[in-house]
Amino acid sequence: LDSADRSAGKDGLNAFLHTSAQQALQVAEEVDRARAAGEELPELAGVPIAIKDLIVTKGQPTTAASRMLEGWMSPYDGTVTQKVRAARMPILGKTNLDEFAMGSSTEHSAFGVTRNPWALDRIPGGSGGGSAVAVSAFQAPLALGTDTGGSIRQPAAVTGSVGVKPTYGSISRYGVIAMASSLDQVGPCTRTVLDAALLHEVVGGYDPKDSTSLNEPVGPYAAQAREGATEGGLKGLRVGIIKELNGDGFQAGVNARFNESIDLLKSAGAEIVEVSLPSVKEALGAYYLIMSSEVSSNLAKYDGVRFGLRKLPEEGPVTIERVMSATRAAGFGDEAKRRIILGTYALSAGYYDAYYGSAQKVRTLIQRDYAAAFEKCDVLVSPTAPTTAYKLGEKTEGDPMAMYLGDIATVPTNLAGVPSISIPAGLADEDGLPVGIQFTAPAHEDARLYRVGAGLE
Ligand code: GLN
Repeated sequence: LDSADRSAGKDGLNAFLHTSAQQALQVAEEVDRARAAGEELPELAGVPIAIKDLIVTKGQPTTAASRMLEGWMSPYDGTVTQKVRAARMPILGKTNLDEFAMGSSTEHSAFGVTRNPWALDRIPGGSGGGSAVAVSAFQAPLALGTDTGGSIRQPAAVTGSVGVKPTYGSISRYGVIAMASSLDQVGPCTRTVLDAALLHEVVGGYDPKDSTSLNEPVGPYAAQAREGATEGGLKGLRVGIIKELNGDGFQAGVNARFNESIDLLKSAGAEIVEVSLPSVKEALGAYYLIMSSEVSSNLAKYDGVRFGLRKLPEEGPVTIERVMSATRAAGFGDEAKRRIILGTYALSAGYYDAYYGSAQKVRTLIQRDYAAAFEKCDVLVSPTAPTTAYKLGEKTEGDPMAMYLGDIATVPTNLAGVPSISIPAGLADEDGLPVGIQFTAPAHEDARLYRVGAGLE
């Protein structure tokens, strides 16, 4: 389908921007033959996967859902793409997202919105709405996303899926189109916690091509998920309810499912404590400054000269500056432009200390808050998002802040670099839509999340 057809909703959901059925079938058949021949195969061999269109793939277009990269073919595979291929998993295609992963609803895609399979007039979450919808609508059993401030977890929450933002550095970012490099993480989006654990084991691990990659062993995630799901698997686990992310400002149905999950944890033998992350109230402000600053720098390379779209000025002389200006005016959507302007302003010499410098200080305070909280508990818990899926268009008119506020529970973990998982907590009574509950662990303790997630699931 071309983009006009897609925005007209011809395939209903618009989870995919590009599909590669032939290639996928070929891999599946090779795996079948290998299996028949008794060859030893990786655990997920033959299990298909969808990949967020922010991750580069050789032989298939990568667009970041932007006109800037429309039709662009990466000459190389990202590390996670390579790993998926090495695991002999057929790649079904590339999923829709907000342009350059900026947004919480997938409405900022240049190629049409994605719809929530639970209610077609609702947002699928964002930025990774395509991956979450592919999984929740049973178009793909597994998907990869990226999470800079919630883009795996919030779409998972509002579509009834599982989404994981691993410890920063746990999965390579090589070949992931950068949004905000100090916050970006690749992670799984799946229907079950065990699936996410298995996928994390496939794509995780040290990569010398990513300077922030952690040099530590991968897993054991699946084994922990399996243990968590056994009788007594959560016994003695200390779970901290985050005071600042409990109750106030959250939809009634979200609170109800959250409290019910807490009761389930108690009955499974977990110990519930209350903890405080006082700086979390400043997290959104700090996130939107740091993220926009990094965005303004990362997106500077789309200049109409090196790659991607090139647009010549309609009239007048053709200079580098004028080509750059015409290209960026035509290639970026409103949200990308808004963040580039905000970030450039925040980084400018006269304002650096007032904005970027202060935001970095808040980031340090948040990291300290997490460290202090984890002295009192093993994992932290909160709802993933304040509301269930809202109506398409509801938060794109007028004030962009309306959408940003929905990221309150997810951005703090990116600022702290700690891992977080969102799992389904049931449906809200008032609208019958999925609610997500989020667990957070100290850095490097991703395995703990798979244990508690599978235990509660
Ligand atoms: N919703 C957040 C934002 O718009 C998070 C995006 C992301 O995680 N990629 O910045």
